[in-house]
Amino acid sequence: MATAEIFPWQRVIWQQARQSGSAQRHHALLLKGRRGIGKLGFALALAKSILCGQGDAAGVACGKCQDCYWFEQGLHPNFRLLEPEALSAQEGATDKDDEENRREAGSTKSGRKPSQQISIAQIRALDDFIYLSAHQARDKVVLIHPAEAMNTAAANALLKKLEEPPPEVLFILVTHNVSLIPPTVLSRCRQTAMPGPDHEMAKDWLIHQGITDPDFHLAMSGFSPLLALQYDERLAASHTDFIQCLCAPERFDPIELAEKLHKLDLSSVTGWLQKWCYDLMSCRTSGRVRYHLKQVAVIRQQAAVIDPVAFGFLWRNLIASQQLARHPLNPRLFLEAMLLTYMDSIRPAGSAG
Ligand SMILES: [Zn+2]
Repeated sequence: MATAEIFPWQRVIWQQARQSGSAQRHHALLLKGRRGIGKLGFALALAKSILCGQGDAAGVACGKCQDCYWFEQGLHPNFRLLEPEALSAQEGATDKDDEENRREAGSTKSGRKPSQQISIAQIRALDDFIYLSAHQARDKVVLIHPAEAMNTAAANALLKKLEEPPPEVLFILVTHNVSLIPPTVLSRCRQTAMPGPDHEMAKDWLIHQGITDPDFHLAMSGFSPLLALQYDERLAASHTDFIQCLCAPERFDPIELAEKLHKLDLSSVTGWLQKWCYDLMSCRTSGRVRYHLKQVAVIRQQAAVIDPVAFGFLWRNLIASQQLARHPLNPRLFLEAMLLTYMDSIRPAGSAG
């Protein structure tokens, strides 16, 4: 399970949530905002603080009591986290609680792919938890993440519970994309727009987490601090090599590169090339570079000589590649084809060879 955490950019909203919490408790909260800004950590911190009997003045859970211990172990009897099977499998495949969750969710551990959806079985499995008496007659919390992963049947089943809310149960829904939540569900929730950090705050936070090159990590992660933190160091090394190859087109060798890269996550590699090409096009049309701030000089040089027509073709080709990248028949050939197309479009006509 992800950890409960209140990020520096959430302090004000934390106070608001805790204050309104003590005054007039709403039975369903919806936390919305873009991916990678710590919504889940916040939601978990909120759940933990509600279950902890001994929070501090700011309402932060004590971290020392039995309730906090249970919560941290993912075993609190008054707490349920609903996630798509794919997400909980990813977080800890060997975890016993996961096994439990899978059984609760009514699914089996067969060879099939874990589901990306939150199913109606998962919502129905909440019945006993919600309607039977609570452990020590205390508050109960259900956290649904991400709420847009509920399929229609699951959302309808949840709606019934939201329409007749059992006393002492708080639902917390977390969403990266509020437009995907049915309006009927939305109307039952108090919505909170979750803030993200500005660039400086995100940088400071990443440095504090031990990231030595926060600008690069942020740029490569769509400027989301948590995604920037998770940006894989091993992938980062390959990525840096790749950028160096892109910087030296005269030595650019698609066959050799494909050999080097074909065991990596191909969707990531395709994304790297997309970001690079985005910068080339952006530099060509507006003079701006978004991702590769350290390579601005090289990008200017290359952008000046690219053929816009060939580049338009390349761009469409990359979008198609991104769709294929998850299931290529032959990873090496997939990369060779993509890199050859790239090479053709960056070399001025007549210089190939
Ligand atoms: Zn506690």
